[in-house]
Amino acid sequence: MRALQLTGPGTLELREIPIPEIGPAEVLLRVGAAGICHSDSYVLSLPFAMREDPLTMGHEIAGTIEAVGSEVDGLAVGDRGIVYLCWSCGVCRECVRGRENVCLAAGRTAMPPCPGLGPDGGMAEYVAIPANSFVAIGDELDFAEAAPLADAALTPYHAIRGAMDQLQPGATAVAIGIGGLGHVAVQILTAVTPARVIAVDIAQDKLDLAADCGAALGILATDETAARILERTGGRGAEAVFDFVGTDSTAALAVQVVAPDGAYRMVGLGGGVPGIDAGPAGGPGLPWGATVRKSYAGTRSDLAASVELAQRGKVRVEVERFALEEGRTAFERLDRGEIRGRAVLIP
Ligand SMILES: [Zn+2]
Ligand SMILES: [Zn+2]
Repeated sequence: MRALQLTGPGTLELREIPIPEIGPAEVLLRVGAAGICHSDSYVLSLPFAMREDPLTMGHEIAGTIEAVGSEVDGLAVGDRGIVYLCWSCGVCRECVRGRENVCLAAGRTAMPPCPGLGPDGGMAEYVAIPANSFVAIGDELDFAEAAPLADAALTPYHAIRGAMDQLQPGATAVAIGIGGLGHVAVQILTAVTPARVIAVDIAQDKLDLAADCGAALGILATDETAARILERTGGRGAEAVFDFVGTDSTAALAVQVVAPDGAYRMVGLGGGVPGIDAGPAGGPGLPWGATVRKSYAGTRSDLAASVELAQRGKVRVEVERFALEEGRTAFERLDRGEIRGRAVLIP
């Protein structure tokens, strides 16, 4: 089969490799589509290899079951679904509480094994997955639009669900960065909360996309952005700020515009440092009562809810389709900020 593999630092190659064998608790998925995430791009930019042997990338996977392991119950050849990306242990205290994204087996700051970022992922014709990571999507959803639900919907859904107390009628939510995750976040906020959504991005076409997704207002990221958001929120700021970029400048913006008792959620993994201080009243920093949460992926139940929103037509991922052979071009376009929504590879 063909697979898009990371074969060395910064080297992406389309290679011919054997179809993976499956274990007794696994299923083999014939990949219908695989999304490209900024974290894939980040991994590609690392000066060292993620794994010694070539790694098939791709953690947003949709497809059809082609073969079922001997111990797997309840799944059948031909079932359509997507892949839950936290391949967590399933038995630790956090997993059994339904908090698989913070599985104890992963350690304090690591993440549970994730396809395409450790085990082989979905940028290939076939992928072997743990049977319990398969989430059925029924017959209606298109694979290209379903695959990104695995991260681009799951991750914002989880961050938003954790800020529901702040997202009451009359509240304002700010979404920074209207890429793959951001444009889905605007739709989720619109579907499940009464909050008014303000979108922030460096590009006008991304703000146009946010408007199509339900944002009430788009603000270009400039030196004036914080002032404009404060102006629109009576000087108090936004009850929830979701940063899908996570650089120093977006982190600084989030701190400046989150309201007292508001929720600042770091989602994008840009490595930014928010510069939170423990100073007294009157400073420019974090207001009283605001909470900061570094949000990672989501739970299995968050993914089920994301799929349901898509099935009900409340969330629709905007996708640009590429053949597996065009993988490198798709990555380059993503890095240049030219993708509207999500880039998706079709093997
Ligand atoms: Zn991702
Ligand atoms: Zn666990």
